Amino acid sequence: MDLNDRIRHEIEARRDDLIALTQDLIRIPTLNPPGRHYHDICAYLETRLLASGFETEMIRAHGAPGDAEATPRWNLVACREGRAPGECVHFNSHHDVVEVGHGWTRDPFGGELDGDRIYGRGACDMKGGLAASIIAAEAFIAACPDYRGAIEISATADEETGGYGGVAYLAERGYFDPARVQHVIIPEPLHKDQICLGHRGVWWAEIETHGRIAHGSMPFLGDSAIRHMGAVLAEMEETLFPLLLGKRTEMPVIPEGAKQSTLNINSIHGGEAEQAPGYTGLPAPVVPDRCRIVIDRRFLIEEQIDEVKAEITALMERVKARRHNFTYEIRDLFEVQPSMTDRDAPIVRSTASAIEAVLGREAAYVVSPGTYDQKHIDRIGRLKNCIAYGPGLLALAHQPDEWVGVQDMQDSARVMALVLAELLGL
Ligand SMILES: [Zn+2]
Repeated sequence: MDLNDRIRHEIEARRDDLIALTQDLIRIPTLNPPGRHYHDICAYLETRLLASGFETEMIRAHGAPGDAEATPRWNLVACREGRAPGECVHFNSHHDVVEVGHGWTRDPFGGELDGDRIYGRGACDMKGGLAASIIAAEAFIAACPDYRGAIEISATADEETGGYGGVAYLAERGYFDPARVQHVIIPEPLHKDQICLGHRGVWWAEIETHGRIAHGSMPFLGDSAIRHMGAVLAEMEETLFPLLLGKRTEMPVIPEGAKQSTLNINSIHGGEAEQAPGYTGLPAPVVPDRCRIVIDRRFLIEEQIDEVKAEITALMERVKARRHNFTYEIRDLFEVQPSMTDRDAPIVRSTASAIEAVLGREAAYVVSPGTYDQKHIDRIGRLKNCIAYGPGLLALAHQPDEWVGVQDMQDSARVMALVLAELLGL
C-alpha cells in the first residue's frame, strides 16, 4: 500500500473514534461569553493528545479580556516532533462556542448522532473541525511514523469574542513565529471542498452627536442630539450606502452579497439612559443632549483603513456644514486589516491537491465575510502561510440545531492527513 492508501485506511478505521471524539467535545459546554469550561476541554484534549505521543502545554491568558478566577482563559498547545528535521504544520481550532439561543429541537450539549449528522452547539463551529484535525494527525502518524518535521494542534479560547485570550495571546508570545511554525490550517466550517484564503477588514466605531438639554415643552431652548443623528443617518442613506454598493472586490468573498464594502449600524441610543426593567413610569420630558450609534464597516483589500475612516469624517463634515451648532465625536472601537493568503502559498497548494485527490474535484477558493483568528496569525505572528479549511457549513454556525456531517468530517480529515503527507511525509 502506498502512503495515500494507508492514510485512507487509517481514517476509515477511526470512524467511531471520530464520532465519539466530536460528541465528547460538544458535551463540554464551553459557552462564550462568559467563557465556561475552558479548563475542562483543554484537560480532555491534553489527555487525548498525550496518549498519541504529543507534548502538551496548558497556557492561561492571564490578564486577557474576560480572564478571571471564575472564567480563566485556558489554551492548549500540543506538539509532536517527527524523527527528522523538517517544517511544522499547525492546526488551530477555537474551543469556545456561542450562546445557545432559541429554536432548538435537539439537546444543544447532547452530541446526538442521527444518521450522518452529529448535533449540538459548536458541532460545525468548530468542534467537528477540531476532531477532524486530531483524527487526521493520528491517522497520519500511524501511516507514516517516521515523518519529518513536527505536527502541532492547538485549541484556543475566545475566538467568538475576538481571540484576545486565545490566538492573539499565543501569537504575542511567539507561538506563531514563522521560525517556529511554517504552515497553519484553521479547521473552521468552510466546507470540505473550499479553501478560505482570508477575510475582509473591519472597523467598528462609535459616533456621538451632541445637543443641549432643555424642557421638552420648549425644545427651541435646547438642541436635539437625536435630530442631529437623524440627519447623519439620512446622509448615510443618500450618499454612503450607494457609494459602498459600488465598491466591489476582487477577493472571492462568499456569500455574493459580501463581495463589496458593507456597513451595519449595530446600535443606536439617544437621550437619557433607559430605566431599569420593572420601572413603570414615563421618561423625563427633556430634549436629548446626546445620541450615539455604533457602526460596523467591513472593508476590502482594495481599500485602506484611513480612507474608510476619512469617508465617515467627510460625511459628518457635510452634515455639519448644513446644521447650525452641530458637533460630534467619532471613537474607534475595533479594527482589523483584511487578510488574504496568496493562492501559490505552500499550504494552499498542498490543500488544493489533497482536495482533488480525496473528492475528485477542484478546490474552490473563498474569502470569509467576517474575520476569524487568521487576523492574529497574520498581523501579530507575521505568518502568511495560513488558511481556513474544515468540515461543516458556515450557514449552520451559530444557528439552532447546528450539526456536522460524519462523512464530511472523514473526508476533510483525509484531506488534512494528505496535506501532512505532502509536507512531512517521507
Ligand atoms: Zn468558528
